[in-house]
Amino acid sequence: MHTSINDAGMLTEPGDGLAAHWRERDLAVLWHPCTQMREHPDTMPLVPIERGEGPWLIGRDGRRYLDAISSWWTNLFGHSHPHIAQAISRQAHTLEHVILAGCSHAPAVELAERLLALAPREPGRAPLTKVFYADNGSAGVEVALKMAFHWFRNRGEARRTKFVALEGGYHGETLGALAVGDIPLYRRVYAPLLAEALFAPSPDAFARTGDETAADCARRAADGLATLLERHAGEVCALILEPRVQCAGGMRMHDPLYLRLARELCDRHGVFLIADEIAVGFGRTGTMFACEQASAGPHGAMGIQPDLLCLSKGLTGGALPLAAVLTTQSIYDGFLDESRERAFLHSHSYTGNPLACAAALATLELFERDDVIARNLARAARMGESSLPLAGLPHVAEVRQAGMIVAFELTQGGDRRTPFPATARVGLRAYRAALARGVLLRPLGDVLYWMPPYCLDEAALQVLADVTRTAITEATSA
Ligand SMILES: *Cc1c(COP(=O)(O)O)cnc(C)c1O
Repeated sequence: MHTSINDAGMLTEPGDGLAAHWRERDLAVLWHPCTQMREHPDTMPLVPIERGEGPWLIGRDGRRYLDAISSWWTNLFGHSHPHIAQAISRQAHTLEHVILAGCSHAPAVELAERLLALAPREPGRAPLTKVFYADNGSAGVEVALKMAFHWFRNRGEARRTKFVALEGGYHGETLGALAVGDIPLYRRVYAPLLAEALFAPSPDAFARTGDETAADCARRAADGLATLLERHAGEVCALILEPRVQCAGGMRMHDPLYLRLARELCDRHGVFLIADEIAVGFGRTGTMFACEQASAGPHGAMGIQPDLLCLSKGLTGGALPLAAVLTTQSIYDGFLDESRERAFLHSHSYTGNPLACAAALATLELFERDDVIARNLARAARMGESSLPLAGLPHVAEVRQAGMIVAFELTQGGDRRTPFPATARVGLRAYRAALARGVLLRPLGDVLYWMPPYCLDEAALQVLADVTRTAITEATSA
């Protein structure tokens, strides 16, 4: 039996020409990421995509799919964006790649200058002044973790070997990044291989009880963090967290107050703060970086500045893999020595790839040219308005929003504490229902979310809202 979710005429049956033929060729040779391959193609449709255009993906069968999840949160300005495509093409004809150890090139230097100029800044704190490149988000996280550990080691503080991370957090799939992640589905199997990490409570506001506010959740979580840091005084090199939204953990959002409190606790305990803005950076939560929202300090509203800032995903507008880790002069200086072993000898073959850097520079040009952050304010407000009516559906426990991210938490009867049984596959049913109507929503468990490219226009938003409503209704009906 093959996929038959063509009630709206959206998905073809295998055996239906080009698309089906392509599907067969794919499944004969490819092993897809984050997929139980046995579910292809019967339980999980496999959608052959031919090209992309704005927020739309166009299938080999000619059907259009709205990319409501920005192709795994990477795409910012739409697919095959001419400005980014041109920058990559121009660079490809000049210098496609060169070893970055011992050599330099303009795109790497210019991009570092521009990122540092944009980076979050906190009054009274030395700014971020150095950039280390990697070629994907997980690799960027590895860089930040190793740097934090190695810096203390260089200082003779060999007892500082531990990392603190947040419950429900996600930082990638490589073993170091997985060790500081707390999503059982990805982590549990590999637990015997992972370095031990300490987990502090999540400030997740969905966990609030009674008449608690999101700020109460933030304070409670910060108390837990304080206890943990006291218990392990002198043993921790860094706290790693996703500011504002724990994305892979189910688009769980927290009060920005938590960032302020966590920053203070890190300072008090001499622990580095690693902000993983791989998913939330570049305007996703409304500001260029989520750290900018860390609410009132003693001198009024201001953001926090991490000691290490991890960027990837949207960095190239979604066109090419690249990561950047921004850090301080003080961390950089801690590696300067006669000894090569005290140097940060980490590298990847494609570190600072010129094509990826050129794509990133073009992306930053678009931010400036099109005043993206300001225009997203209005877009985010429209997304909020369009999502609100869905909050009244029977099994929607919460609709929450942080800038350009809107999430719908589905539970039994909309009761916050009663999730659907995993075997009901509510998220999967919603996925299939949406796909059949031309919208690519890829739920995280039973959390549906919108994280679209910023070029989502009014008509596409209307499609998105209508299809999401139908998908929720269909997936949650018995
Ligand atoms: C996606 C993600 C990563 C990992 O990035 P990859 O490029 O997929 O390795 C790390 N941290 C966060 C917060 C992410 O969302």
